[in-house]
Amino acid sequence: MSEALKPCPFCGSTKVDAEGWSSLEQYRGTDQWRSGPACDDCSGSADSVEQWNTRAPDPEAASLAISSRLEWRHRAETAERLLSEAMEKAAGWHDDQATLLMGSLHCGDNATTIQMTRVKADWHTDAARQLRKVPCDSAAIRSSAPGGN
Ligand SMILES: [Zn+2]
Repeated sequence: MSEALKPCPFCGSTKVDAEGWSSLEQYRGTDQWRSGPACDDCSGSADSVEQWNTRAPDPEAASLAISSRLEWRHRAETAERLLSEAMEKAAGWHDDQATLLMGSLHCGDNATTIQMTRVKADWHTDAARQLRKVPCDSAAIRSSAPGGN
């Protein structure tokens, strides 16, 4: 059962997780969890430890595994960049709203109008700050979780 894992047949890495992948599959009419070894470095995988350990290095499979991993990373980076651009755009809009609100004040405005405008502008400024903070500052997310500090 606890057969030692050989290094990755695709890339030679020793960072191989015996249960690197798992999925819920139908087997004889019932759902069953299956898992198998996968390489942390190139995502190469096999159905079982036995298959992993007897798998001969296959240059074509190795290059496929590496290229799919690179493609995945590229897509993840693209998604992250698009998200951060969208967040920055939204943050910029809130900055503009705050500036417009403060610019809309006149010397004849009464204290209530000035205060209401400041509250709205502060809200926009805070929204912009939150938008800029969320995608990259995971500490902020942790600290805002219940029980965090
Ligand atoms: Zn590998």
